[in-house]
Amino acid sequence: TAIADFPLTAGVQGFLGGGPKKLLIGGEWTSAASGRTFVTCDPATGNPLTEVAHGQSEDVDRAVRAARQAFDNGPWPSMKPNQRERLLWRVGDILSERAEEFGQLEALDNGKSAGIASAVDVAWAADVFRYYAGWATKIEGSTVNVSMPFAPDAQFHAYTLREPVGVCGLIVPWNFPLLMASWKLAPALAAGNTVILKPAEQTPLTALLLGEVFQEAGFPAGVVNIVSGFGDAGAALSAHEDVDKIAFTGSTEVGKKIVDAAKGNLKKVSLELGGKSPNIVFADADFDAAVEGSLNAWLFNHGQCCVAGTRLFVEDKIFDEFTQAVADAAGQVKIGPGLDPTTQLGPLVSQEQFDKVTGYLAAGLADGARALTGGKRWGDTGYFVEPTVFVDVKPEFSIVREEIFGPVVAALPFNAEAGVAAAANDSIYGLAAGIWTKDISKAHRTARQIKAGSVWINQYNGFDTAMPFGGYKQSGWGRELGAAGLDAYTITKAVNVAL
Ligand code: NAD
Repeated sequence: TAIADFPLTAGVQGFLGGGPKKLLIGGEWTSAASGRTFVTCDPATGNPLTEVAHGQSEDVDRAVRAARQAFDNGPWPSMKPNQRERLLWRVGDILSERAEEFGQLEALDNGKSAGIASAVDVAWAADVFRYYAGWATKIEGSTVNVSMPFAPDAQFHAYTLREPVGVCGLIVPWNFPLLMASWKLAPALAAGNTVILKPAEQTPLTALLLGEVFQEAGFPAGVVNIVSGFGDAGAALSAHEDVDKIAFTGSTEVGKKIVDAAKGNLKKVSLELGGKSPNIVFADADFDAAVEGSLNAWLFNHGQCCVAGTRLFVEDKIFDEFTQAVADAAGQVKIGPGLDPTTQLGPLVSQEQFDKVTGYLAAGLADGARALTGGKRWGDTGYFVEPTVFVDVKPEFSIVREEIFGPVVAALPFNAEAGVAAAANDSIYGLAAGIWTKDISKAHRTARQIKAGSVWINQYNGFDTAMPFGGYKQSGWGRELGAAGLDAYTITKAVNVAL
């Protein structure tokens, strides 16, 4: 019904109507070696959208061969940085031109609002391509003043080169399908690598449409390869002896499997994993801004954010009033299919995710938590869950310790004298944190105490393409975005010349 009620752009109609979607390998659109396909569904209705080639290990082999050929022998290695810059910039421009089409397709495949997908996911992906387009000409080594103690009279000219790592496997999740792909593709290509992108099985469509954009922009064959498939395709990529690097975003559990699989050739690995981020509200915060920001912290993208601020720490003096205000605001949120432009909260991405989230709702209630709002499924079709605010929770409850990845927050009071940092840091994760207060010293002091890769003060989800992003503890290895994001895709060579 989502399709009938809200008209699709001609581009999306053409894409979905054009038969099974194929893999992009060596510049050609090709079926899986097995000839198999899988169906991708609209989570608002559960209805099938289209069939997609089911890439497996043989297809990963083919894609790695194409990427290796393009890296070693194709036109790519001799392409000048400013030419790479222009190609990446063109990808950004095409994404901006086709934002509505990409936004609708993302909404259909993932369930998020088409308006938000165009304005946030697609617009930001375009920005990421332009940002790293700018970096292509600015990746530099340095000259080094050497003074070897055992050769005091000799003179040297020593310098470093920053080279691409080689063939990179990029494995992305379903929560921000296009955006997570762009965070990896743009710096990898700016630095001169070739890539194999493995989108999530729940949401392969915008990655495949992006493949068309790379072709339109003029990327040489084999530089960008796209293999849609399941975890076995990701595992084959991670274990492949001819892949030099894996960049992964997804669950901590799979991140550990990737580290294991990468051991064979000790390929480089960067990981963006799970989170259970604290969002800390002091009594002296701007109350209304903190309510609105805290709602955004755990509810944005239906709670399917690795950075979701799902442990809401509220100073005891304002705990009841504040949590009630958050619950009231959550109760006002408009729930519906992503294609409806007025939707604020769409369905979860899949039956599996729906079962997982409703399982946590049941576990929270069974443990003795109280839902100030929500606590159950919404409607009777699609994978919708009511936004849920739990109070009366204890630190040991699974709803406080584990990543739920749905519209569920657990609120805990704290006493300002006793401090909040120990409780906030009591997690295996360390991805992000929010702090709300008007006292700037307290804000900066608390920011230093929190073990998290990103700390947002008087805001939440305060991302920027130029700001490095990544995890402490089991939330990951390495950083994405910003200048630091290039480190994952370059390798340093030291050259020393005897003069
Ligand atoms: P996942 O980690 O299983 O999947 C992410 C990607 O990894 C997908 O492309 C998948 O096909 C691939 N993959 C699966 N098994 C693999 C393997 N053995 N080797 C290589 N690649 C493999 O995530 P999921 O199943 O989609 O979601 C499960 C949970 O992960 C969620 O409930 C959520 O808690 C968490 N998650 C976190 C993020 C994040 O951004 N941190 C994103 C999505 C999901």
